[in-house]
Amino acid sequence: MKNRTKILLIYTGGTIGMMKDYGSGALKAFDFDKLVKNIPELSQLDCDIDAISFDNPIDSSNMNPEYWGTMASLIEGNYESHDGFVVLHGSDTMSYSASALSFMLEHLAKPVIFTGSQLPIGDLRTDAKENLITSIQIAALKKKGVPLVQEVGLYFEYKLYRANRTTKINAEHFQAFVSPNYPPLVESGVFLKVYEENLLPRRGGKQFKVHKNMNSNVAILKLFPGIGPNVLDSILKIEGLKGLILETYGAGNAPTENWLVDSLKKAISDGLHVVNVTQCSGGSVSIGRYETSQHLEKLQIINGKDITTEAAVTKLMYLLGNGLSPKLFKTIFETPLRGEVG
Ligand code: ASP
Repeated sequence: MKNRTKILLIYTGGTIGMMKDYGSGALKAFDFDKLVKNIPELSQLDCDIDAISFDNPIDSSNMNPEYWGTMASLIEGNYESHDGFVVLHGSDTMSYSASALSFMLEHLAKPVIFTGSQLPIGDLRTDAKENLITSIQIAALKKKGVPLVQEVGLYFEYKLYRANRTTKINAEHFQAFVSPNYPPLVESGVFLKVYEENLLPRRGGKQFKVHKNMNSNVAILKLFPGIGPNVLDSILKIEGLKGLILETYGAGNAPTENWLVDSLKKAISDGLHVVNVTQCSGGSVSIGRYETSQHLEKLQIINGKDITTEAAVTKLMYLLGNGLSPKLFKTIFETPLRGEVG
């Protein structure tokens, strides 16, 4: 008898498995067995499904690097025994977690698909069933006996995206995520259409390695007209700060005022890693295109190019955990490690 494909479902929490608390009326995570019972269709899938749940499922607003470590360990511990992984996660911070895992799981040769839903699985109009069932089917896809998707993906509302290219853009629509700078990997219609040309190339036998050392001494500063030295300097004074994502305007532009240049110059020479990421959801930082970014280039600020803020902040945590020299840090940050940047 042929070996059946084995998928591990990891339930971390999120709306997909929530129900209304009778006291407060708010949505709270509930236990995983109930979730699986709500989807009898799972038994019809042509693969074996094991399930594991966080002891205390969370709303993803409570997500943190420690939980990322837990997810990475669960995948590591079950890597050999399973062909693919589906992580059920709240949509609010899903792009952060999925981006983080994409960096933490090096030489990944199996699919890790994040999904969730906007309505709980018990709701009549739920989007959870389609998201879950199709995610499992994608995680089980094989070509010549080898998993077809060998990267971390995010599946929501008929599309699988590269996880570290996604961002949540809507709190109500079923289509809650977009991937503004990279096309979908798979689209679900009557058939599952796999865009193989968009997938990361298959791994050539490199040893799977899990990195759990994420350094969260980072901050994100979004520029706005009227921002003054008091705001920037109070951030730069944060004790132990190692990395800063500067969310700039348009193609990576920022005020040319002296206070900004002087403060950043000092912070960078003191060892702070500063990354230039655009506030625009689509398009790329293009340093030097305008005069208002040339001063940033002179400061040797890291060019985030078309990276999302979610991928930038998690890549920063990942690289900070690796103890690189500043020069190498900039080079590696600007290089695609998991297809997160163009
Ligand atoms: N607040 C929920 C969460 O992120 C929303 C969701 O699951 O979609 O956990």
